[in-house]
Amino acid sequence: MESYILQATGLSKQFRGFYAVKDVNLRVRRHSIHALIGPNGAGKTTCFNLLTTFLRPTTGSIQFNDREISASDPATVSSMGLVRSFQISAVFGQMTVLENVRVALQQKAGMTWAFWRRDRALKVLDARALELIAMVGLTRWLHTPAVELSYGRKRVLELATTIALEPEMILLDEPMAGLGHEDIAPVMEIIRSVAKGRTILMVEHNMKVIAELCDRVTVLQSGQILAEGSYDEVSRDPAVIEAYVGG
Ligand code: ADP
Repeated sequence: MESYILQATGLSKQFRGFYAVKDVNLRVRRHSIHALIGPNGAGKTTCFNLLTTFLRPTTGSIQFNDREISASDPATVSSMGLVRSFQISAVFGQMTVLENVRVALQQKAGMTWAFWRRDRALKVLDARALELIAMVGLTRWLHTPAVELSYGRKRVLELATTIALEPEMILLDEPMAGLGHEDIAPVMEIIRSVAKGRTILMVEHNMKVIAELCDRVTVLQSGQILAEGSYDEVSRDPAVIEAYVGG
């Protein structure tokens, strides 16, 4: 039996009478990498904001691990294991790479650490921090203030701070946006290793990246689902080709 970690049913969002998202039924399989694509204005951002509960739906339900979350707040949803990533604003510029990841780990651990001896707590924390930093390929920049990192490295640092929260599912908002050509393959590798044992839903415009990374693709147009399937299936779909070419 298929296992779906996230299910949106009849999801709609109206802004002053205009449907940005209309009657969307989206199911994301556990441990898959799923892409949400569509031309500008298709409703991708609104969908992301609904799924992470930054926005309230006009109608519809959202279930994460079979629990209704549409009326929850983003902090609660994040503590349940559904986290949004790739916002550089989440990185503290003056702090080093190590310090940024440490802060994220402390945030996750919360009060637990208060019962530990400080030196022991720091040792465990740093071992995990080094592991996460290695996973995103930033070991060379361990003591570099985040503000001095390249744009691409800032983004993967943000991803490391997201994984520190131990999410079961990560929503990635255009992970390749603004990256230089040479950064795309390494970031794809990082996303692949982050995806092990997790589920990823991403909005992305780079079709080569989607073709290589994603198990399943949902195409939105004018707030509605136009097509869904493997990349090969949707990229051959005449309605999808028309949506992109016909604009
Ligand atoms: P995408 O991310 O696919 O480009 P969006 O979700 O940003 O699409 O937008 C979908 C549609 O909803 C667009 O027509 C946009 O203008 C409209 N929209 C998005 N947010 C708002 C808002 N807060 N108020 C009014 N209209 C909005």
